[in-house]
Parts: sequence; structure tokens; C-alpha cells
Amino acid sequence: MEINHIFIVGAGTMGSGIAQVAAVSGFQVSVMDVIPEQLERARSIIAKSTEKLAAKDMIDQQQLAAAANIRYIEDFKTLAQADYVIEAATENPELKLKIFTELDHLTEPDVILASNTSSISLTKIAAATNKPEKVIGMHFFNPVPLMRLVEIIRGLATSDETTATAVDLAKKMGKEPVEANDSPGFISNRVLCPMINEAIFALQEGIGTAEAIDAVMKLGMNHPMGPLTLCDLIGLDVVLFVMEVLQRDLGDDKYRPAPLLRKMVDAGYLGRKTGKGFYEY
Ligand code: NAD
Repeated sequence: MEINHIFIVGAGTMGSGIAQVAAVSGFQVSVMDVIPEQLERARSIIAKSTEKLAAKDMIDQQQLAAAANIRYIEDFKTLAQADYVIEAATENPELKLKIFTELDHLTEPDVILASNTSSISLTKIAAATNKPEKVIGMHFFNPVPLMRLVEIIRGLATSDETTATAVDLAKKMGKEPVEANDSPGFISNRVLCPMINEAIFALQEGIGTAEAIDAVMKLGMNHPMGPLTLCDLIGLDVVLFVMEVLQRDLGDDKYRPAPLLRKMVDAGYLGRKTGKGFYEY
């Protein structure tokens, strides 16, 4: 089926980035959010971002105009016109299941419903609909206009056809899709968050300072940024949440969050967003 109109649910950090990339890639885009201020915020972020890209000749005038043509809406009234849905609403399992049940009722049977969830089982989300074969994960990375990866996550019932369509769409959006099966943390957070957590254990045990741990991973492993700097960027609360999901859902204590991580989250040291994490901002 041909995809012209992409409907994005949620106009936050990820929804606005996905909308921008979809629009400059030539798709007609609608973004829906329940909070009008979020829609205004998304409009302004997308305008600033695309103007900057145009000034650097990274997008042309037609793409700039396409981004300005994104529709910002507060309800699902135009959902029936959508050819493809990408959900990027708040990471809350109950909310996502409710949204998917509603999306299922309001879209044509052949319309694919993708979720940008970072931690919720795609199989579970799919089970909230009557077309689980049409439900798939499209896990974009922040900032969406700059990050090349889209993890494509197959739920238990996701069809080959749905997977092929999602892979193709990600490519048309200028991204590099990588397939993963539905499992806690998928590939990205299954590998990344335990590495960050281990860096926090190393800090807690006094094996090195934060600067030393980051320097080893940057200089010795060629990581663009050290794991503690990255943790500050992602948010300590987010990393703690992912570790709790891995420990609980994989039933293995090797994923236990470092006590120092938990303590810092309790203290409100969440990283860049609060001005203090492993470093001060
Ligand atoms: P965010 O808080 O910035 O945005 C979420 C948006 O969803 C908000 O604007 C909120 O008003 C909206 N929303 C809440 N309920 C809604 C509803 N019923 N209908 C429509 N919109 C609704 O969050 P985010 O960081 O953009 O994350 C969105 C999703 O993307 C989450 O599932 C998250 O796990 C995932 N994700 C986030 C990142 C990241 O780095 N931030 C990376 C990959 C994936």
C-alpha cells in the first residue's frame, strides 16, 4: 500500500522530531497531541530546526515549505485519512494500550500502527488491537533529525509485510533501519543501559573518577562521549527505569540498578535536565 499521509500521535521531543523528518522526506504529516501548548512548542521547534538546516543547505526551500505544512491537531478527527500511524506519546503502558485500542477502531484495517516506545512490549501493545499483525515498533533516536538509526521491532504477531513496509518507510525517511525481535530493552537499551549502569558501579566502587571512567571509554573505545556524560544527557531517571524493566522482565539480577544511580535519582540529580548529575551544568 502506498503511504502518503503519516499521522503522528504525541508532539513531544520525539513526535516533533519524527514529524519534521517525515515532512522533509515528502510525506504529508499530521501531529496530534492532547496538550495544545505541546503542539505550539512542536511547531516552533520544527520551524527553528528546519530554518537552521535550510541556512546550512542541508534541506532545500521545498523541504522547508513542507515542514511548514505539517498539520497540528488536538483530536483523532482526521485519523481516518491516515495511511500510516506512528505513536510517540508519553511512555506509560496503560496510556499506550488505550491509544492503540482507539487507533485500531479509527483506522482502516490495512493501516499500520507503529509505536516509538523504548521499553513497552510490542506484543502487548499489539494485543490491545484487532490487527496485531499490523503493529510494529519504530524506535527512533533523539534528536530524530540527526540520528540515523531506527530500530524496527517485531512483536510476536507482526507480519513480514508490515516489517517490510516499516523498513521501507524508515529508509524513505533517510534512516537506517535495523530489525530486532520484541524483548525488554530491544537491542539498543539491552546493551547501552547495562554498560552505563556498570560505569556507575565502577564510580561507586572508587575504581576511577567520573572523568577517568568517561576518558577510558572515549579514548580507548572510541565512544563519542563517556557513559556517565551520556547518562546525564539521557536522564538518570530514564536509565534507572530501563534497568528496572530489564531486571524485572528478564528476571535476572545481573541487571540490578547500581545503588548510586538510585540514590542520585532520589536526590533529584537527574542529569542535564536538573543541572546536576555526574557533572554540573
Ligand atoms: P514527551 O514527554 O516529550 O512527549 C510525549 C507527548 O505525548 C507529550 O506532548 C504529551 O502531551 C503527549 N501525550 C500524552 N498523552 C497523549 C494522548 N493520549 N494522545 C496524544 N498525545 C499524548 O516524550 P518523548 O521523549 O517524546 O517520548 C515519546 C515516546 O518516545 C515514549 O514512548 C518514549 O519512550 C519514546 N522515546 C523517547 C526517546 C527520548 O530520547 N526522549 C527516545 C526514543 C524513544
